Order: sequence, then structure tokens, then C-alpha cells
Amino acid sequence: MPINDTKYWNEELETISREDLEKQQLKDLKKIVKYAYDNSPYYKRAFDQAGVKPEDIVTLKDIEKFPFMDKKTQRDTQGKGSFLGELCAVPENDVVFISTSSGSTGVPTISPFTQKDFDEFQETEARWFWQVGVRPNDRYVHALNFSLYVGGPDVIGAQKTGALCIWGGTLPSERLLWVLQNYKPTVIWTSPSYAWQLGEKALKNGIDPKKDLNIKKIIVAGELGGSINETRKAIEELWGAEVYDFYGLSDIFGACAAMCEYKDGLHIAENHILVETVDPQTGKVLPPGSKGEFVFTTLRKHARPLIRFRTGDIGWIDTSKCKCGRTHGRIHVLGRKDDMFIVSAVNVFPSDVEAGIRSIPGLTGEYRIRIYDQDFTCKYAVEVEKKAENDQSDAEVINTVANTLKARIGVKPANVVVHRDGDLNTRSEHKSKRVIDEREHKLAS
Ligand SMILES: [Zn+2]
Repeated sequence: MPINDTKYWNEELETISREDLEKQQLKDLKKIVKYAYDNSPYYKRAFDQAGVKPEDIVTLKDIEKFPFMDKKTQRDTQGKGSFLGELCAVPENDVVFISTSSGSTGVPTISPFTQKDFDEFQETEARWFWQVGVRPNDRYVHALNFSLYVGGPDVIGAQKTGALCIWGGTLPSERLLWVLQNYKPTVIWTSPSYAWQLGEKALKNGIDPKKDLNIKKIIVAGELGGSINETRKAIEELWGAEVYDFYGLSDIFGACAAMCEYKDGLHIAENHILVETVDPQTGKVLPPGSKGEFVFTTLRKHARPLIRFRTGDIGWIDTSKCKCGRTHGRIHVLGRKDDMFIVSAVNVFPSDVEAGIRSIPGLTGEYRIRIYDQDFTCKYAVEVEKKAENDQSDAEVINTVANTLKARIGVKPANVVVHRDGDLNTRSEHKSKRVIDEREHKLAS
């Protein structure tokens, strides 16, 4: 652990040359592919069926010869042969921690960790906390779910920085506000929608987050908001604090990637994860920097290695050196493959619509999107809320929304509905459901 207030948590690792980073990745890739083949019944079978062997890895690109796996693979192999299933590469006695996915897209999947996996997980989390400026003189509130969720233990990574950590969990908002008022923490981690709602709730209770609280930094994850500039700025403005986006996968780490002070994408731990980008429909590997589906290979996890895991997340990676001096690539996440819809041959993500709506003054920023088929064509409609003090007519608001979305996305919504302030019931605590997909044939597999 760094003793002084150095810029980097691990300077040698974070500023390593791309050449050396890739050399190390290749070394680890060869090891993990062989390890997976030798120890996981699933990989032995899958590689044999595909006619590939661990020795086929000579360069990093050789990973492309190996078969993909995905959430379905995890579900299908879970519980087979043993409690942890055929993907697991260690006996259960070596596993010290499991988290599970939310199960929002099917049966929850179990993610096992050995002690070494877990220690390296927390070392990575400490690196992200340090990267956004968490220091021993900070007080940090971990306001994430502790129940089964992989983001729960991330608080241990925060403690490694030396910060005073408060294990908040999912406290009711009144209680959390009490903690913020009385313990005066400087950093909090929660979801972007909850950060927004909590700030609004504080204001309604006569607490100005900017003046009456001491929050200087907000870490957000679990939804895209932190990477949507308009949403991030709105939360920053409400709280008078810096907002940093983190990206995690229950299958790997609570946070696999995190923003730095430049907020231009999220540095991903390339010492742990080999990133590929593929065409979401065909699986064809795309050149680095192209938009596509992220495919991750874990380079060091022993309990359950993931070799070519299709994440279902769409985005691109920038491997140029960042202004902060870090060399690990920056991912830009656009959304889930399942959430993407195509209108008049244009790929649209709900995050594009959100960014458009939140850039319009006079709206509350709350919205709902409805995606549906009409005359064999995909259409989308949006509902928005007009702020109480906005004296524009509904017709004017509809016009502004339609034109803003047309300019931003390329296609107008088929319909815009304007509600009064507070009438759209989208202010639920934590994750919000703002997209209603009524299509019969969805794009996602
Ligand atoms: Zn950076």
C-alpha cells in the first residue's frame, strides 16, 4: 500500500508500456487457457469439440480460434458434476466466496472466488478508489447491496486505501441522509438513479446536498448514467460533487473498469481482462476501437476462468495513452445488446434517448421509452415530464423533444407524451425501469 499521497496506486502496473502489458497478457493467457483446459470439464470438452488446444496460443490474436461462452453456458453448466458446476476449475474446498448475478435475465449465476482471486479482486478495487482520489483522510459510504451482490465486498478495497469506511448497504433513504448529515462522509458509491433521487429527496427535506452535506465525490455503477455526460453533470450539479462511473460484471469483479479524472471512458484492468470487440450478430472479431459487443477473457481468475465470455455489453475500447498517464485501455459502454433497437436502420440505445432528454432545459429529466412494432417497422415513443415552472405549451415541448432526438440519434420518436412534474412513475429507489419493449421479435438472441 502506498504510504504517501502518490498519484497512482500501483504506478508500475498502471503506466506500463503497451508492449510490456501485451507481453504479460500473452504470458498469462497461455497459462490460463492451459489451466482451464486441464481443470475445467467444460473447457476440456468445448476446446476438444472446436479442435483447439492450449498450445495454439502463440500470439494474443490466437484467442480468436477459441469458442465463445456466455451467460447461457454458465447456466447450463451450473450444478453439473458438482455444486459449482463444470466451469469451475478448483475443488469447492478452495472456494472462499461466491456472488450471484441479479437473475434479472434468467436463473442467477454463481461466481466463485478462491482466496487469491478475492485478494486480487480487492487489490483491483483499491486501485479504482485510489484512481478517483479516495485517500486515508476520506470518509467513504458504501451504499451498495451486500446481499449476494459482487459489489458488496468492494468496500474492502476502499478500506485498503486507508479511508474510513462506512458499510451502508441499502439503508432506507432517510437513514442514509441521516448518516450523510451526521458522519459527514466525503465519498459515496451508489447507482446513478439513486444518487439523483437521494439528492432530490434531501432537497425536499430541506437539506441542500451542496451546502449541508460534505460529499465531494460520488461513484456510480450498475446503470449507464455515469457515462452519459448529461446525466453525470446533472448529478454533479445537484450535489456539488464529482461523479465517477465504474463498470462491473458479477461474473468477474464488482468493478472491472473505472473513470479517472479525465472521465473519457473507463480504464479497464487489462492485467486481469483481455478485451475483444465482436459483431453482436455474427460474432466476427472487429478491429480495436470499433463499436461492438465486448468479449472478455479473464487472465488470472482460478476458481472459474472465463475464456471468451460474451458480455452482452456494446461499446468500444480506446487503447491510446490517457492524459492521466495510465496505459490500460479505456472502454466506452453504450448499453446492453438486449436494449438496443433499430429504427430506420439506425442503432438506438436507450442511453442516447436519455442523453437527449436530459439536455433539454424545462424537463425534469425523468422519461419512459416504449419500443413497439407498427406495420412491420420498429418505432419508439417517449414520455417526458415538464418541470412545474416551465410555462411552455405541451406542443412546444413535443416539438423540442422530437427535434432534439432527431438531431442526436438520427430518427424522430413516433410519439411524444408530456406529463406534469412528478406524474411519471419512474422515480423508484435504486434501479429504474424506464424502457418498455413491446416488440414481438426482439433483436437479442
Ligand atoms: Zn485516465
